[in-house]
Amino acid sequence: MAPPMSAGRFLERLREADVTVVEVGDWAHHNRNHKGPWGPVHGVMIHHTVTSGSKRTVEICRDGYTELPGPLCHGVITKDGVVHLVGYGRANHAGLGDDEVLRAVIAEKALPHDNEANTDGNRHFYGFECENLGDGKDPWPEAQLEAIEKVAAAICRHHGWTERSVIGHLEWQPGKVDPKGFTMASMRQRVRDRLKG
Ligand SMILES: [Zn+2]
Repeated sequence: MAPPMSAGRFLERLREADVTVVEVGDWAHHNRNHKGPWGPVHGVMIHHTVTSGSKRTVEICRDGYTELPGPLCHGVITKDGVVHLVGYGRANHAGLGDDEVLRAVIAEKALPHDNEANTDGNRHFYGFECENLGDGKDPWPEAQLEAIEKVAAAICRHHGWTERSVIGHLEWQPGKVDPKGFTMASMRQRVRDRLKG
C-alpha cells in the first residue's frame, strides 16, 4: 500500500528507467479524479489496445470515447517501445475487478482466478496500454516488451514491490483477455530479473 507518486516523480522514474518518454499535452493534469479516488496504489496493470497506428492509438488512449472517457491509462507503449504519457491520476483502465486478486497483489502472493467484478481497480493500479491488435497474431516487438518490463520494474522499484505487483487486465477482470500474445508469467519473470540488476 502506498500513496501514488507525484506526476513529476513518475516522469523522473520512467526517465531513469532508460525508456523514451513523450509527454502528450497536459498529461500530468488529465485524469478522472473528479469521478472517484486515486490511490492508495498497489500495482501496475498491463493492457493491449486493439488498435493499430501509433498516433491514433495515443489519441484514443488520451481522449477515450463517449461511453468511456479518457484518459484510458497513464502511459501508452507503442510498438517502437516509446512511452507516451497521456494522463496521470485516476484513469479509466482497470474497471471493476476481483477483491481476492487485489488482496493477493497486496500480499504479493500467487493470483487466484478472477471470478468477481466487485472492486474499483482505477483507484489502485498504474496502467499501461500497449499498441497491439490483441488477436494473438499481431507481433509484440522486443522493443515494446522491453519498455513494458522497464516501466513496470521502475514503478516496482520505487514502491519496493516485487514482480508480483505487475498484473494483466485479464488477471483482474472476468472476461478480459488482455494482454494477448505474451504471458504475464513471462513478463513478471523479466521484471524479476530486471529488479535483481
Ligand atoms: Zn485492458
